[in-house]
Amino acid sequence: MIITIALSKGRIFEETMPLLAAAGISALEDPESSRKLIIPTNRDDVRLIIVRASDVPTYVQYGAADLGVAGKDVLNEHGGTGLYQPLDLNIARCRMMVAVPSEFDYESAVKQGARLRVATKYVQTAREHFAAKGVHVDLIKLYGSMELAPLVGLSDAIVDLVSSGGTLKANNLKAVEEIMPISSRLVVNQASLKLKRATLQPMIDAFAQAVQP
Ligand code: ATP
Ligand code: MG
Repeated sequence: MIITIALSKGRIFEETMPLLAAAGISALEDPESSRKLIIPTNRDDVRLIIVRASDVPTYVQYGAADLGVAGKDVLNEHGGTGLYQPLDLNIARCRMMVAVPSEFDYESAVKQGARLRVATKYVQTAREHFAAKGVHVDLIKLYGSMELAPLVGLSDAIVDLVSSGGTLKANNLKAVEEIMPISSRLVVNQASLKLKRATLQPMIDAFAQAVQP
């Protein structure tokens, strides 16, 4: 029985490699240089597939992959249907934040009950956050470069991932609210876990052992 693991390129792939190594799995090609989307490993019964970060939950949900690694940001937007999430891998850590232009008085705008225009890739997360605060928002869906939106009048605020804050600063924006801390999770197809438990459980246990606090 073949085990398929869905990963995205970049930080998730890099930070997942040591965890795979702990389970005795190593990639035979580097997805950054290879054009292959199916990457073989040292184990005949394990292969990696390379997908967009936001597509990882979908591949696992439908069983096209047995396992995957996805950010909490992506999982919140997906909703998690059909996914078992046994492990916080504590990798790709950052924070989901509300940010505004540095001269914008966010507190006053919120207090006055102003209707905020918020641009984001994370519409679900943003909707829940502002609804819980009782703030009225018009959400504008973007697919990237959220920092640009307030600079050209598309929105008053953005909801985006922040790690160092360097990109916000470079664009004259400030973070005004943390929505939630973000890290990547191991996701498992629920049917796979039942059918392939003998192979999957030891892998999950090895990942758990290797997670850095
Ligand atoms: P794409 O770049 O293909 O549009 P993406 O931006 O979602 O997709 P990445 O930038 O590789 O892909 O991010 C993958 C995951 O890494 C995100 O879902 C998030 O969980 C996490 N992440 C994103 N930005 C940061 C960051 N600045 N620091 C740490 N982790 C981050
Ligand atoms: Mg990106």
